[in-house]
Amino acid sequence: MNIGERVSQVEERVLAACVRSGRAREDVTIIAVTKYVSVQEAAAVIKAGLTDIGENRWQNAREKWEALEIQAEWHFIGHLQTNKVKDVIGRFSFIHSLDKLTLAEEISRKAVSLDTVVNVFIQLNVSGEVSKNGMKPEALIPFAEQIRDLPGIRIAGLMTMAPYEAVPEETRPVFRRLRELRDELNATNIYPYRIDGLSMGMSGDFEIAIEEGATFVRLGSILFSNEI
Ligand SMILES: *Cc1c(COP(=O)(O)O)cnc(C)c1O
Repeated sequence: MNIGERVSQVEERVLAACVRSGRAREDVTIIAVTKYVSVQEAAAVIKAGLTDIGENRWQNAREKWEALEIQAEWHFIGHLQTNKVKDVIGRFSFIHSLDKLTLAEEISRKAVSLDTVVNVFIQLNVSGEVSKNGMKPEALIPFAEQIRDLPGIRIAGLMTMAPYEAVPEETRPVFRRLRELRDELNATNIYPYRIDGLSMGMSGDFEIAIEEGATFVRLGSILFSNEI
C-alpha cells in the first residue's frame, strides 16, 4: 500500500469514529507523526492531504522542517528540555508536552522575544505509569493558575498518552478522564477563553480516543509502517 492509500484508509476510520460518536469530522485533526521517516515520505503524506506534522526531536525534524516548512503546520510532541526550547519556538506552532513551570516560563520568554504566541498542551500522566511523562492530574488546576499570566503561551488543551493495551478498548478510561479534566479546567474559569483541545490517541487506539473527544490524534506507524 502506498501512503495515499494508507491515508484514505485512516481517513475512513476517523470518519467512522466521528459518526459513531456524533462528532463532526472537522473537529478532529490528524497529526502525521514523521519522526521515523524520511523527507520524501513526509512530503508524500503532506501531498496526500495531511498537513499537520508531528516530530519529537528538533535534531530529527530539522531536515524535514527546512524542506517542508511552509507546506505544513508543525507540532512538537516530544519531551522538551528547557535548553532546547530555543530550537522549537518560531518553528512549531503547537507544543504538546508542557509539564513544568520552568518550561512554561522559558517557552513564554522565547515566544515573546520572537513576538509570537505558542499554543501549548499540558501533558498529563493520567494512567500513572512510571514510564510516562506528564504531570499528575491533581497538579493541573494549580499549574493552570501559575501559568495563566505568561504572555507568550496560549493553552490549547490537554495531552496524554495511554498505556499500550493489546485490547484498544482498555484505553478508554484514560481518554475519558482527560476529557473530564479539561471540563473541570474550563469550569474553574481560570482562563478567559474556552479550552477545547484534547491531544490523545495514537495508531493503536485513535478510534477510542475520538469517541472520547480527541481533537488531535497523533498517528505514526499506521501511516508509514509496512507491518500494519
Ligand atoms: C511516536 C509518537 C506518536 C505516534 O505513535 P504511533 O503509535 O506510531 O502512531 C504519538 N505521540 C507521541 C508523543 C509519539 O512520540
